[in-house]
Amino acid sequence: MSNRSIALTDRTYQYLLDVSLRENPVLRDLREATASHPMVVMQISPEQGQFMAMLVRLTGARRCLEVGVFTGYSSLAVALALPADGQIIACDIDEDFTSMAVDFWRRAGVEDKIQLKLAPAVETLDALLADGQAAQFDFAFIDADKVNYQQYYDRLLELIRPGGLIAVDNTLWSGQLADPDVDDADTLALRSFNKSLHGDDRIDLSLVPIGDGLTLARKR
Ligand code: SAH
Ligand code: CA
Repeated sequence: MSNRSIALTDRTYQYLLDVSLRENPVLRDLREATASHPMVVMQISPEQGQFMAMLVRLTGARRCLEVGVFTGYSSLAVALALPADGQIIACDIDEDFTSMAVDFWRRAGVEDKIQLKLAPAVETLDALLADGQAAQFDFAFIDADKVNYQQYYDRLLELIRPGGLIAVDNTLWSGQLADPDVDDADTLALRSFNKSLHGDDRIDLSLVPIGDGLTLARKR
């Protein structure tokens, strides 16, 4: 026992999945269909998808934003947890990745809940703000290009209502943020992003060591 977070061995991670994972069959099929994709490491882990679904239910979220769709696992996990009138605006720039996402959203019967915006996400978020959508969203997930995380966060903090939640993926970055010898552009951007959130008194903050690190920022 210890008063710090446990480091998961393969055996303990498998145990966690064995006793808690409840994966929708379409989510499982999507994970299997993405397993052979050369960029599969970008996909969130299944227990993280389940955790995000829990957050969506806990917050009673109805209007959601996603920045970084890939083949659609995180958006599908969130969509399945939304009420019947729930909506996600999903931002990505890659037509190939997202054509697979759309296919699986359809298979799960949630395609009407998800609106895909194929454009650089900063443009989509700016357009929403220009359209008077500030404080109109309940939940957002950031998981696109790391160098733009700060740009996404700044806009999402305006788009989210007080009490709403922004979840940010990869905030532990395979442990590289804690390694002073690593200084590539993504690592530097994530380090500076984490530091700026730590001092941001507009939010309540928690960095959850699930998946590759998931930061929760609740707008005050
Ligand atoms: N959340 C996804 C993984 C996202 S991977 C899942 O659970 O599977 C990151 C995604 O960000 C990629 O699909 C990539 O095309 C997208 N992306 C990269 N730069 C972007 C930009 N400027 N605007 C929007 N999306 C971008
Ligand atoms: Ca990610």
